[in-house]
Amino acid sequence: MIILQTLKETKEIIRKIKKEGKSIGFVPTMGYLHQGHVSLIHQARQENDFVVVSIFVNPTQFGPNEDFEKYPRDLDRDAMLCKEAGTDLIFHPEASLIYPDNYMTYVDVNQITEKLCGASRPGHFRGVTTIVNKLFNIVEADRAYFGQKDAQQVAVIQKMVEDLNMNIEIIPCPIVREADGLAMSSRNVYLNQEERKAALVLSRSLFNARNAVSSGLKDAAALKAEIISTIASEPLTNIDYVEVVDARTLRDIEKLQGEILIALAVKIGKTRLIDNIRLEVR
Ligand code: AMP
Repeated sequence: MIILQTLKETKEIIRKIKKEGKSIGFVPTMGYLHQGHVSLIHQARQENDFVVVSIFVNPTQFGPNEDFEKYPRDLDRDAMLCKEAGTDLIFHPEASLIYPDNYMTYVDVNQITEKLCGASRPGHFRGVTTIVNKLFNIVEADRAYFGQKDAQQVAVIQKMVEDLNMNIEIIPCPIVREADGLAMSSRNVYLNQEERKAALVLSRSLFNARNAVSSGLKDAAALKAEIISTIASEPLTNIDYVEVVDARTLRDIEKLQGEILIALAVKIGKTRLIDNIRLEVR
């Protein structure tokens, strides 16, 4: 496994790999890796000849009062996990290489970015689509792997790839959870013991919702109310949003039918966590 920081060296290797006719699988990350990231790398390893992981805490997807500065970083540990999982190349650029002083170009996907996390984090998805576009141009992968943990991100990236006729296949991968249900996240490290316990209410509310739906509940508003009441029963929480939407378009629905996504964002103390569940309702 090699770790590269420059565009020149990275592009050279990519050119060589492509010339050899090998397929490239790509896993973009912000580092501080956990088993959720590792599951994406494993899948990329299974389906491609060459596996690239990028580790880059992307400044343009953080709002002014968000955690860009204190976002956890540990390249040595990340490199170890990447190597174990079968990565061939880590691309780990400096921010000044990606966004030099005269940087001017951004990618905007409309509508689908305006709700859920897009509503509470203005500019977030513009930063995401811009960096993902740039990384796709650098890595020239055949397939890119994204976690369903960030369900809106997957939908936004898929829309971008479709709308801009990009030659890459987006592979959504399932959410990896801790044994007690908490969705793995690099941000879980911010939680103190009490908050870590309280954070379980997120997955619990989603699993309860799944049970309610499989028992025949059909009304989206009632489902949403039930989730909100479960989360609100935990004193350390502050709900950002709870939404029940069409899984593909992310449009609001009234009746629970077809592929639905229940997505939520909740602050536990100062830490904002997201989680979701996708259900097929017949
Ligand atoms: P991040 O480093 O948070 O930007 O995440 C990089 C990729 O890993 C994204 O595609 C995430 O959706 C994915 N990811 C993060 N957490 C999980 C998880 N618990 N399960 C599966 N994928 C995840």
